Amino acid sequence: MRVGVFTAYKLQLIEAAYHNGSFLIVADGQSFGAILPNEFVSLRKTSDAKVELKHGVKLLGRFREVHLKPTKTNFALRWRAMQPSLKERRYQGAFNIKVKNGHLLIINEVDMDTYLMGVVESEGGGGKPLEYYKAQAVISRTYAIKHQNKHAKEGYHLCDQVHCQAYHNMLRFTDDIATAVNATSGSYLVQKQNGELVDGYFHANCGGQTSQVSYVWNNDIPYLIPFKDPFCTHTPQATWEKRIPKLEWQKFLVNKYHYPIHDPIYGSVIFNFEQNERKAFYISPHLGIPLRDIRAHFNLRSTFFSCYPDGNDVVLKGRGYGHGIGMCQEGAMEMARQGFHFEQILNYYFRGVKVENDLYHLHFRHPNLQPFE
Ligand SMILES: [Zn+2]
Ligand SMILES: [Zn+2]
Repeated sequence: MRVGVFTAYKLQLIEAAYHNGSFLIVADGQSFGAILPNEFVSLRKTSDAKVELKHGVKLLGRFREVHLKPTKTNFALRWRAMQPSLKERRYQGAFNIKVKNGHLLIINEVDMDTYLMGVVESEGGGGKPLEYYKAQAVISRTYAIKHQNKHAKEGYHLCDQVHCQAYHNMLRFTDDIATAVNATSGSYLVQKQNGELVDGYFHANCGGQTSQVSYVWNNDIPYLIPFKDPFCTHTPQATWEKRIPKLEWQKFLVNKYHYPIHDPIYGSVIFNFEQNERKAFYISPHLGIPLRDIRAHFNLRSTFFSCYPDGNDVVLKGRGYGHGIGMCQEGAMEMARQGFHFEQILNYYFRGVKVENDLYHLHFRHPNLQPFE
């Protein structure tokens, strides 16, 4: 599969250095040897939208497209972006580099399971229980299969950002992630009733109750129903607090939603809101102020908060982190610690689903999608 990497940045100059095996350099059909130990190539965008390629300090030329191909599949390159300057990343697989929309576009050609190891680590971190990693791997594979046409116009399947799934590095920390991906290789999640691929949504922490999908987006999804999740309420991201100046809060509500500030009832409670169960709207539905808009505007961790006035501020006491739809990662980790199997975890967060591992079924149901095995 083809993954756009560094897509969050307008890359002008980047170096690709030897890590653990040699890579062949091919540019516009010409071969230029290989990147050997202690060597690197640099790739710079030129003013006429070509890639200036150097091997160390030696200029090789200006090309439309550069390919870097590993001589063995598990070799990786160390990528050091210089303009802008970014933290080093390591990726396995092959690479195509060209200029698009005024910056370098790097496409990583990688097999699904190697990609997933990078995703599971980027999205879940190191040191988590094995059955959680398996559940995350199945969800992330399902998501990748289902959304593989998201970037068709740009010439790749998925990007490396949260827009698709975070893929910030090859696997670095724990063999458990590789074990989990290999143990669930080829597995994806479908709805029991009709065999359709599930939307593999997930979030960091639901705050003790998952969201109604229509509170966050505009539709509902039958296998994603709100329920109380007791597994995530004592975990690191279970609660949060934020203070916002009253004036800012009021200005947003009045200017954007015509909050009835002079109304004798509503005017006096503008800073008071209780949310014991997840709601869709601030204070009262008929005011028409969606919590998702408040969350987006004030950059809150979740919509699941209560608030009260204190001095010049309104104090928000919140629960959870993320949109609250699909698998709650911290809940899933706790379930795994308590001994639940990954299929039980998936069936808890997605109702009426099953794990499938059948290519014929996938082709039959979704002829436009590839499993990328
Ligand atoms: Zn994307
Ligand atoms: Zn939860």
